[in-house]
Amino acid sequence: MTDQNPVFIPGPTNMPDRLRRAIQVQTSDHRAPDFVEIFAPVLEDTKKVFGTKDGKVITFPASGTGGWEAAITNTLCPGDKVLIARYGVFSHRWIDMCQRHGLDVQVIECDWGTGAPADKFGEVLGADTAKDIKAVLVTHNETATGVLSDVGAVRKAMDGADHPALLLVDCVSSLGSMAFDMDGWGVDIAVSGSQKGFMLPTGMAILGVSQKALAAIEGATLPRTFFDFRDMMAANANGGFPYTPPLQLIHGLSESLKMLFEEGLDNVYARHFRLAEGVRKAVEAWGLKLVAKSPDLYSDSVSAIYVPEGFDSNALAQHAFDAYGVSFGIGLGQLDGKAFRIGHLGSLTDVMVLSGLATIEMAMKDLDYPIELGSGVAAAQDYFRNSR
Ligand SMILES: *Cc1c(COP(=O)(O)O)cnc(C)c1O
Repeated sequence: MTDQNPVFIPGPTNMPDRLRRAIQVQTSDHRAPDFVEIFAPVLEDTKKVFGTKDGKVITFPASGTGGWEAAITNTLCPGDKVLIARYGVFSHRWIDMCQRHGLDVQVIECDWGTGAPADKFGEVLGADTAKDIKAVLVTHNETATGVLSDVGAVRKAMDGADHPALLLVDCVSSLGSMAFDMDGWGVDIAVSGSQKGFMLPTGMAILGVSQKALAAIEGATLPRTFFDFRDMMAANANGGFPYTPPLQLIHGLSESLKMLFEEGLDNVYARHFRLAEGVRKAVEAWGLKLVAKSPDLYSDSVSAIYVPEGFDSNALAQHAFDAYGVSFGIGLGQLDGKAFRIGHLGSLTDVMVLSGLATIEMAMKDLDYPIELGSGVAAAQDYFRNSR
């Protein structure tokens, strides 16, 4: 029966029945005209979620990591200088990927629990008078720490330094859950995936690409074949795909977009804020602390929560699964054993969040955490009742 329990990991997320049905379609020929009918509107409509009119949407059969690889290999050359800050496991992995591709990576080390340091970016870019830095890379929502960064502030810092670098942004765990303004923030490539805010299985890397990034393609010499934007765009222009597309997922994305637009994107973001606030009220009532260092950094899609000294967050997540059949996120990287995570994005309601809070409370009580049973649930109930 436990397969009916929601997951509280920050991706892959719970799939609404409507999307499970939408991907349940028979094989059809992706070279037949009806493929175009489903695929072309999906590319167009996804732009609204990225917040772009000028940009293009490009998708590959891959997870989000493949989207990162597509972003850098289509715009950069071996040895190119890139600027990036490390403040969690996902920003760390992007750094590692850039290094393995032979880029010259300038890393700004930040405390975990903080976000992209726009001021430091501004200083480094201002000092780069030769304009050697070709790209600034930002993880919008650091899923390991539950920190949301201010991408608009990074854009301001870049403009303040009058710097022409590309702005590449990982929005895998924010897109479709929190507002994203690709055009407004001057984002050149925004990288997302199907399995988080879009509530689908893993398997589509979904990218928003600016005209400026498209102009960089011809000069980019990092090797790429599978992820070459040029092949993809040439095929897409005729309504096709350069290889076999993930047909069922494309049907799923079509329906997912319908669901997001029916609810209204602003309402989707408001719902995520509300669910996240409920979780944050519970954390406060337990007397525990978030990893995110200040409210302006709080993520509405995931909360990372320190366990008290002397407790092991991974043992807690393990126990919640073993005893109650519910998954929570473990601590990643520096936070291994020190923090657990509650994912609260995608297909989720007040009622589902309350069930997650009740479950993790039981698990904590079982392991003798110094919390009062019911305290977090009550705090969230109060918040949900009074914010309707
Ligand atoms: C989930 C996630 C990714 C992508 O991971 P995949 O497993 O490759 O889909 C990248 N960045 C962030 C911030 C994420 O949360």
